[in-house]
Amino acid sequence: MKDIALVTGGNRGIGLAIALRLRAAGHEVVVACRSGQAPEGLAAVAMDVADPASIDAAFTKVEADFGSVSIIVANAGITRDGLLMRMSDQDIDDVLTTNLAGAIRISRRGLRAMIKARDGRIIFISSVVAMLGSAGQVNYAAAKSGLIGAGRSLAREVGSRGITVNVVAPGFVETDMTADLEEDRKASILSAVPLGRYAQPDEVAALVEFLASKDAGYITGAVIPIDGGLGMGH
Ligand code: NDP
Repeated sequence: MKDIALVTGGNRGIGLAIALRLRAAGHEVVVACRSGQAPEGLAAVAMDVADPASIDAAFTKVEADFGSVSIIVANAGITRDGLLMRMSDQDIDDVLTTNLAGAIRISRRGLRAMIKARDGRIIFISSVVAMLGSAGQVNYAAAKSGLIGAGRSLAREVGSRGITVNVVAPGFVETDMTADLEEDRKASILSAVPLGRYAQPDEVAALVEFLASKDAGYITGAVIPIDGGLGMGH
């Protein structure tokens, strides 16, 4: 029987690359996204990760239509950048709710079936800024480093049930999220990346594919950078 993988925000960017990789690796993939519509012939379910009721409803639907989810990739994320002095409550709350609380709630809902099956893979998509910090991203960096604490704690809670929990920390990846950065900001980021280039979404997806595989069964609580060397030593 195929593993069922649920990828939040799998309709574009890194999430779409992950969904395509996991499908190519032989998993049954369901993309969880706000529109409930995914490209490339992928199966999709409507889910707003900022809404706990929507998370529960989406899992219930996936379980009814496909079966129990055994791989969760918490990828959905947003930025609302700005200096903290000028950051609104809304921008603080939205970023923490979507990037951090969403991933925690998805894991909580998904664990029911994983614990029963004594098997599962949970993968959080964090960021290099979790370790480095980033001026103008206090909300985002807090959420992304929160994923590390959450992931490691959960890894300790569920390790004895055969469930692994890992955190992937990408550097700068060419997606819609980074397309809007100003040119001088892009240039200064690139100058700090030893490999001298951005990552492609599929490079992040390759790492996630491995972490989701049976071969990665002894890796848990790990925070794995994929950042061209940008964050090395942190
Ligand atoms: P994109 O902006 O290209 O895509 C973000 C995805 O998240 C979209 O599919 C979006 O759906 C989804 N999403 C946002 N909010 C919600 C929500 N409330 N409910 C469900 N889905 C939601 O981003 P990337 O592909 O670049 O980023 C993917 C992840 O990787 C994010 O967590 C990001 O923080 C992280 N990351 C990205 C880096 C980069 O350089 N790009 C670097 C490090 C980490 P919709 O289409 O509905 O908006």
